[in-house]
Amino acid sequence: MKSLAKAPVKAVNPPGATEPRRPGFPAALGAGTTGLTSGRNSGRADAQRPSSYPASAAPALPARQPGQTRQGSPAGVPGVVGASGMLTQDFQAVRARMVQKLVQQGLSDPRVQAALGQVERHRFVDSALANQAYEDTSLPIGLGQTISKPNVVARMLELLLQGTGEPLGRVLEIGTGCGYQAVVLAQLAREVYSIERLRGLHDKARENVRPFRLTNLHLLFGDGMAGYAKGAPYAAIIAAAGGEALPQAWMDQLAVGGRLVAPMQVGGGAQALVVVDKSARGLRQTVLEAVHFVPLKSGTL
Ligand code: SAH
Repeated sequence: MKSLAKAPVKAVNPPGATEPRRPGFPAALGAGTTGLTSGRNSGRADAQRPSSYPASAAPALPARQPGQTRQGSPAGVPGVVGASGMLTQDFQAVRARMVQKLVQQGLSDPRVQAALGQVERHRFVDSALANQAYEDTSLPIGLGQTISKPNVVARMLELLLQGTGEPLGRVLEIGTGCGYQAVVLAQLAREVYSIERLRGLHDKARENVRPFRLTNLHLLFGDGMAGYAKGAPYAAIIAAAGGEALPQAWMDQLAVGGRLVAPMQVGGGAQALVVVDKSARGLRQTVLEAVHFVPLKSGTL
């Protein structure tokens, strides 16, 4: 087993690289939320979608000033190439719209709503895919991997927060990928350790997260099947890749009172979302809905 090389995120702040972080969680977006399970879909993490919003899902965009254009935009989607200053604004509106849709699908936790509304998902995908970044779809991030769809990210984070104390303490994420969910987690938890086994993605994620200047996010290169003992015990563990079983190391590194949320094979090649709660009396496992995540693999590449 290879040891983990800890790579803390450096505080670099290119001017105007990100929208300002909000001081706290704003009021819930969209009143009258439904229950968590209503309208949830199967949570496929690798489905590909058409390259633009369906007409019915066209986001509400802010009113434009004279002379401002939206270049190179499919109908209803903000331009990737556009007048400077407009893009951030446009994406903010589209992001708010994405959160509203998640609320309609059952997302009720205002902390998760705020975090998803705050993190610029379009910064984590190839610029050619930026106009799809706020659709409820997974997208390729290179090396055969995908960024999980927002619905699945929302569901897992909500489950994580439901089962743990507040504020969320130290969290371990297995499968950094492009770093998106890690940055969202860093809005919700005191400390986040995120491990990736593919060097190319780990490096890409470091670049992606740098502009966010998060001192509580630590990206690690290594095999997440071994967890990360140095940061243990964790109030929460979340995996973005599913294997045949949950590694013992994750159980060992979960704090008493902590919760693990991960995809796992449940027979016949099917995957389901699994929640494990650790108490003084032991572990309690709950199998939830079907999901489709990339496979959890051992070793590093
Ligand atoms: N949360 C990520 C999703 C990435 S997809 C995002 O927001 O982009 C899941 C990732 O898990 C892939 O990058 C894959 O390489 C990684 N992975 C699979 N097995 C792993 C392991 N044993 N240790 C660490 N990462 C692993």
